[in-house]
Amino acid sequence: MFGVVTRNEDELEWSEFDAAFYEVKDVTGRAAEPVAGGTNMISCFGDNAAVEADPELAPVSADGERATRERPYFDWAYVCPTRADYREGILEIVSDAAAQNPDVRLDDVGFPRAEYCHCERCTAQFEASDFDDRFAWRADVITEFVAEAADRIPGRTYLTLYPDPYPGHLYERAGLDLDALAEYVDEFVVPLYDMAYTTTYWLETIASGFEDALDAPFSVELYAVDVDVDNLIHAAEVADAYAETVLFGYDASNARAALRRLKAESRDGVSHG
Ligand SMILES: [Zn+2]
Repeated sequence: MFGVVTRNEDELEWSEFDAAFYEVKDVTGRAAEPVAGGTNMISCFGDNAAVEADPELAPVSADGERATRERPYFDWAYVCPTRADYREGILEIVSDAAAQNPDVRLDDVGFPRAEYCHCERCTAQFEASDFDDRFAWRADVITEFVAEAADRIPGRTYLTLYPDPYPGHLYERAGLDLDALAEYVDEFVVPLYDMAYTTTYWLETIASGFEDALDAPFSVELYAVDVDVDNLIHAAEVADAYAETVLFGYDASNARAALRRLKAESRDGVSHG
């Protein structure tokens, strides 16, 4: 199956796509109204606008560094996952999305990195918890959030993963316990973005790593903007060997061109593999 990820509602209906995802809230904090014609996507703990308005929302490391774009390894600002009022707001957006379309995709779920979060609230909650291990406590916080979100999602619950399948890495980095999450998540989504896809061996390596790491099905999301159509087709064929659905991000026209050629070539017996 092949699908699209877009911010443009009209592209959700294009007949070439078997699946369509619509960005309702992204990491800038920009929010749109959820739609009925596609799976609504919600950036949960990535939100520049919210953190700009209230810097106290950002997680802090033990050294007191906030997880914002000022840090060299963050492209957007994060919100601390134990912040109850913000969580409630996200869960309301999930409910609103689910009222439009039964399937919902959760993006940017988790702690920003292993050294987060040491805010006063997190430290107090950890100390009051039954956990002796901070990583185990963090994973419990995230699993509980996903469970609460999934409870509001009548259809399929999708969860986007940072593309690191090495054993233990997502758990340590973000507090994502894949086995525990699989109880609430119907399908994971792994973005494997490249600006050109001139090579694809790494795509295969990462996808096969996730095949080992996950018991649940997963889809692969490719970056379609300005990518040469032949390269995009080749990347899609590699991903398709592992993925439930191959999704094309943010350039529906290029994605449609790739799918039309892919279908024409499969009719003619041409293979890119
Ligand atoms: Zn915190």
